[in-house]
Amino acid sequence: MKIICIGRNYVAHTKELGNEVPDAPMLFMKPSTALLIKNRPMYYPEFTQDLNYEGELVLRICKNGKHVQPEFAHEYFDAIGFGIDFTARDLQQRCKEKGHPWEIAKAFDNSAAISDTWWNKNDLPDLSSIKFQLSVNGQVKQEGDSALMIYPFAEIISYASKFFKLLEGDYIFTGTPAGVGPVQRGDLLVGTIEGKEMLRCEIK
Ligand code: MG
Repeated sequence: MKIICIGRNYVAHTKELGNEVPDAPMLFMKPSTALLIKNRPMYYPEFTQDLNYEGELVLRICKNGKHVQPEFAHEYFDAIGFGIDFTARDLQQRCKEKGHPWEIAKAFDNSAAISDTWWNKNDLPDLSSIKFQLSVNGQVKQEGDSALMIYPFAEIISYASKFFKLLEGDYIFTGTPAGVGPVQRGDLLVGTIEGKEMLRCEIK
């Protein structure tokens, strides 16, 4: 099982971090040891002083596929969940400055929180405009709409599958909207999709 993630997929978020809008989907991966499931708490890692949340829609891959054409991409995922792409922003900044890979900032243990609750994709009214929110301690911090993605689901699946064969059980994090920020011990993060609570995660 692998977790494919896309960075800088919403213009407003790309700009809030001072990055340029990419001319192709920007991919990175997290290993299976990054998975944080069952609403388990996130233990603040000792190697960072700037742990950030990034709330994202997550696709659940239901079929193996290589070189998937965009028009068939919808056959390769069956459900949409909520994920938090936990990021050690201070480490990421250092990696970016040095031109180093950023796995230590993005792919560490428990850095991929994924909801146990899923929306069957057929139950969502409009896959091209899915509304989602992340709140911290009851305050909404991120409001996303998949209609604002630079690269929509079909393009992400098509592009990613050129390089990495998709396997049933893989996950794809589809990028975070604006409003990312730091967390503190004691914070409670809640993710919703179309008004339905999907994920809660306490920072310990
Ligand atoms: Mg992200």
